[in-house]
Amino acid sequence: MDNDVVLLQRTRAWLTGGVLESSYQAYLKYLIGRGYSSWSVRKYSCSVAHFAYWLRKRRAKLSQIDEALIRYFLDEHLPQCDCPLRTPRSRHHVEYALNNLLVVLRQRGDIPISAKIKIHHCGTLIDLPTAKRDGGWRSSTGRVTRNFSA
Ligand SMILES: [Zn+2]
Repeated sequence: MDNDVVLLQRTRAWLTGGVLESSYQAYLKYLIGRGYSSWSVRKYSCSVAHFAYWLRKRRAKLSQIDEALIRYFLDEHLPQCDCPLRTPRSRHHVEYALNNLLVVLRQRGDIPISAKIKIHHCGTLIDLPTAKRDGGWRSSTGRVTRNFSA
């Protein structure tokens, strides 16, 4: 069965036009598989479509989706949202929808398990520099110490 049938036309348009295009079917399947009614699936998908629209406006990549980005969406965008669409605006509802999205994206391997970005106070998304591993620092320090005592 095509899970798309539960979606409103506009929701589908927002989901298919962005970074979630390859994942939203899995999201629908996940919700349906967990026994949610068509009404609930439609409502949660609507919130995810809103998030997809916002991601597109910010030129965010699929791999940048994580808890911090979702928190930013909930805390900063939702209260002053002026997106041209009718979507659920209840924080609790949207948070639930997006947390389920995180689960699905991680199950699919679309996003890493841990956070990779941070958000600048002006709202710019910044890729965190690859942190030096503890091992690297230790071996470097060890070498210096050995040289010194040799
Ligand atoms: Zn919005």
